[in-house]
Amino acid sequence: MFAKVIIDQDAKALDREFEYIVPHDLQVSVGERVLVPFGVRLLQGFVVGLSEKCEYDEKKLKEISQKIEDFAVIKPEMLQLMFYMADKLHLKLASCLRLFLPAEMRTDKVKELVVRYVFLAENFQMPSNRAKKQLEIVQFLQKNGRQKFSDISAQFGYAPLSALVKNGTVVVENEQINRNPEIDVVQNAQHKLTALQQRAVDTICENKTYLLHGVTGSGKTEVYMHLIERQLAAGKTALMLVPEISLTPQVVSNFKARFGGQVALIHSGLSAGERFDEWKRIFFGQARVVVGARSAIFSPIENLGIIIIDEEHDQSYVSESNPRYDTRDIAQFRQKYNNCTLVLGSATPSIESYAKAIDGEFTLVEMPERVNGMDMPKIQIIDMLMELRHGNNNIFSLPLIFELKDIVEKKKQAMIFINRRGFSSFQRCRQCGYVAKCSDCDVSLVYHRFENRLKCHYCGKRYHALDVCPSCGSRDIKQGAIGTERVVEELHKMFPDVPVLRMDNDTTSQKNGHRKILNEFRNCKPGILVGTQMIAKGHDFEDVLLVGIVDADQSLYQADFRSIERTFQLITQVAGRAGRSGTQGKVILQTYSPRHYVYRFATNYDYKGFFKKETNLRKVTKFPPYARIVRILFSHENEKTVADECKACYNKIKQIKDASPEEFVYLDVMKAPLNKIKNKFRYQIMMRFALSKADQLEKQVFDCIDQKCKSSVFFEINPNNLS
Ligand code: ADP
Ligand code: ZN
Ligand code: ZN
Repeated sequence: MFAKVIIDQDAKALDREFEYIVPHDLQVSVGERVLVPFGVRLLQGFVVGLSEKCEYDEKKLKEISQKIEDFAVIKPEMLQLMFYMADKLHLKLASCLRLFLPAEMRTDKVKELVVRYVFLAENFQMPSNRAKKQLEIVQFLQKNGRQKFSDISAQFGYAPLSALVKNGTVVVENEQINRNPEIDVVQNAQHKLTALQQRAVDTICENKTYLLHGVTGSGKTEVYMHLIERQLAAGKTALMLVPEISLTPQVVSNFKARFGGQVALIHSGLSAGERFDEWKRIFFGQARVVVGARSAIFSPIENLGIIIIDEEHDQSYVSESNPRYDTRDIAQFRQKYNNCTLVLGSATPSIESYAKAIDGEFTLVEMPERVNGMDMPKIQIIDMLMELRHGNNNIFSLPLIFELKDIVEKKKQAMIFINRRGFSSFQRCRQCGYVAKCSDCDVSLVYHRFENRLKCHYCGKRYHALDVCPSCGSRDIKQGAIGTERVVEELHKMFPDVPVLRMDNDTTSQKNGHRKILNEFRNCKPGILVGTQMIAKGHDFEDVLLVGIVDADQSLYQADFRSIERTFQLITQVAGRAGRSGTQGKVILQTYSPRHYVYRFATNYDYKGFFKKETNLRKVTKFPPYARIVRILFSHENEKTVADECKACYNKIKQIKDASPEEFVYLDVMKAPLNKIKNKFRYQIMMRFALSKADQLEKQVFDCIDQKCKSSVFFEINPNNLS
């Protein structure tokens, strides 16, 4: 017997199937992990195929040394998924497989998944004297009782032990000890579904993909719960994904309360050990509902009845680093493989998904009203230029200050949204225009007041704050656009007695950081929560009646085709935090471009109008979903190396463009907008293809990348971030 093995190494040269001989006394099946000799080393690998014949010269083949576990850790579906991802997303086979296993399993020490014990069957038969080893095992077990499988196998050999198990002389028993992540479970009232919720639950009943477009507060979670219950009752399992940030204690406890011990939870707050335990519970079928962030899409859950992706527009579903993938694509693969239901839910669906719903690829289900029948919060646009003209150069407009005072008086809560952490975006000399930049990255530094330091948000490097301009010696230093810290400071000045909490990357970096802040905020009345887009996601606070958006334009003017879409989503999501029960909420939106169309559609909660306007633009300008963007990013310490290699690749691609001038819409080579990160220079090739030929062109272009080049090369399809 011969096995095809993928070596578990992240090297392009090793990224193919290698053949090995399966020794006679080893039973190997597809999906198992093995140790194989490679050069002078023993490496871990995955068996991905078995055959009677070998394709290579048999005399040169080596034998598999041993198995790591004695069952297949990669299930057949995941094996298929690996081939799909490698082909579609141009990823390395081994790096796909790595996504499927908890990191804990891939360390050098072999982890026992389950402790297996063996003991003699009640009315066992003595093996014949000819089976010497078997006889020894039975005698040993007679004398010593229940033993670890691995101990017996090591002492007497794997083959005789498994022969005894096979003929029923010896019984195997699995034992598991699980660390259960700690959560307070609060029993929640089950709601009677509203008519709209009921209609959604009734509609979503076939094995296909649905787009659930429900306004914020329309009660989508309750719909998901019902859909999951239905699948469980039918003996199936469920996979529910939410953005990492929305996996609040509240959400988790709701699921635990509803589905009890059947729930497995996967999020970044778990320790490696906890993560491994949850994975095992899923793998062995003990958990039938998986709730988790992005990476949970790779859970080894079988018999799937439904996959749900909440807040499907959320950027966190796209992995921006290697291996790069979009969770929604993986979900679609699993939907087809399992022939199950897939639900993408959002109050602000991505343009791509909504376009698929319009085209009939997805089925659209709408919930246009809030469960409590309340109107959506009223969004008031404030022109900050007018404020300035009237002599207010505060970061808060007069209407926002007025509303904040009202909230404080009524002992209610407010959220203030500002999409930049730190105190101010940069420090600039007013005399000569000098701006402090990171020496390793091509970006300006962000001033952090609390530490009185300048920080690079790309590499984390810290610098002294400027008192004197290093270029001209002037002391006239100005703070640039404001960040969360500055907003908090202003609020403290205005309301010294009111608790003001801050939630951004800096305050939530520790384990469970954002959970702690949210819990604290829950009890502050009055209270104000200042935060970046972290506060925009899914939180449900009854007493938040006011949302202030300090600088709505921030996300608008980014050099990226999704920036307007993202601005619309952000406003709708943040606004959705206000007035979720009983009293109507209010939103104050501050901007310097009050007449931009995105604000007109957002204030009217007119998703469809926005979709139409935005897609018309993208059709004309040939952007996704009406074209495909591909970027190849090269980076290397040596600027000449990276520039040369990028240019060489570009020259090859140029020939492909010349052969398909119609469908190859755009091609250019340039420095990346962020020319240097962590001391590596970055160059890029940008391309756009007509959809009719996109797959073919993409493959051709991918083949132009010289696998031996010195730069690291990153291949992106419709990237979210073009910096
Ligand atoms: P969405 O995710 O659509 O923004 P949620 O699922 O967070 O909305 O629900 C908003 C609020 O409405 C939650 O507090 C939830 O408990 C409540 N809710 C959901 N369904 C019902 C219902 N049928 N009756 C009363 N309250 C409900
Ligand atoms: Zn200066
Ligand atoms: Zn830096």
